[in-house]
Amino acid sequence: MDSRMVPEPLVYRYRPDALWALKNSELRERLSWYYSVLFNEAPAKYLIAKRIKSPVDPYEPQVSLEELWKVHDSLSAIFKEEWKRIANGAPLGEVVRPNYLDVKVAIAKRMMKRCELCEWRCRVNREEKIGVCRVGRECFVYSYFHHLGEEAPLVPSGTIFYGGCNFRCAFCQNWDISQVKSSRYEVLAPKALAEAQEELAIWGARNINHVGGEPTPHIPFILESLLYLDTNVAQLWNSNMYMSREAMKLLKDVIDIWLPDLKYGNDSCARRLSGVKNYFAVATRNILEAYEEGEGSVIVRHLVLPNHLECCTRPVLRWLAEKVPGAVLNLMDQYRPEYKAAEEPERYPDISRRLTREEFRRAVEMAEGLGYRFTQEELMIRRSG
Ligand code: SF4
Repeated sequence: MDSRMVPEPLVYRYRPDALWALKNSELRERLSWYYSVLFNEAPAKYLIAKRIKSPVDPYEPQVSLEELWKVHDSLSAIFKEEWKRIANGAPLGEVVRPNYLDVKVAIAKRMMKRCELCEWRCRVNREEKIGVCRVGRECFVYSYFHHLGEEAPLVPSGTIFYGGCNFRCAFCQNWDISQVKSSRYEVLAPKALAEAQEELAIWGARNINHVGGEPTPHIPFILESLLYLDTNVAQLWNSNMYMSREAMKLLKDVIDIWLPDLKYGNDSCARRLSGVKNYFAVATRNILEAYEEGEGSVIVRHLVLPNHLECCTRPVLRWLAEKVPGAVLNLMDQYRPEYKAAEEPERYPDISRRLTREEFRRAVEMAEGLGYRFTQEELMIRRSG
């Protein structure tokens, strides 16, 4: 498994904009919670969750899942109060057991027995079978390293590439880890996953970037790993946002910064190109929840696809401008045909070529027409309507 760490001076030689992003007042305002954790002015949310005592032992089998959700929701309300207090400078206190994070872990593990972590709702027992995502009882990771290609505020990003995915994107750039299970992965137990995160953070990662493939099927393992981690490092969710409502509840009060994709502006493109149903409603519901979660800290990525400006880019930008106007936007121009889009161009003629400069210029014009302006090379912020 690949696990590269990059010394700090080299990071900034390669990505000088990552240094600049530390000082950018607009980004600091939009991503305020993330920056508080980054500058060690506040603890990551998962550290707060570990200090909230659970009134029941969530691992006791006689406690029903329904009861666990009730406990979870009452602890979430306590978390919100505690979070406010700590954000205002109150001390963090000691870890208690069992705690709010234990409750999340216990629920996630129960959910694996009839998996509904994403909107496929396969309801398979993942101890015995795999679902659409091809992830079963084990957390398999292909690599983890300091990613220098992410958005400037995130670099160096301590990125963990989990295997498997609940989407079947015809143009997937990571198809070798998302769509097939090649042999170079490593199974990581929760403690080993925590050690990988610690290593990334010690070597200077600004965040732990859970990505894949897709991290959603790995939620039970990721949450459990945090029971073994004590480092103050922001947890970043880099996802297609097809989580179920329940999975979203488990992630809230744990994730410090969200990096969602909003790929398509309608369900028929999502169905044809990624093989999923009801895409737009699910992805926007989850992005909105992440945004409303408090302190914003959302960077939305939209990869502009050739021939999809009117059906996808325009409705995506309109929705973002209207519903999550404070989110940072990364309008991405780097589309290139990969995987099926390259192998079967006759089946995917619309996306079998690169994006033209003219198409990207039109996408930028659409964003600017909705009030977005570049704050630096790649990121856009909405300044007016
Ligand atoms: S994570 Fe989604 S795709 Fe995977 S088994 Fe669970 S419900 Fe199915």
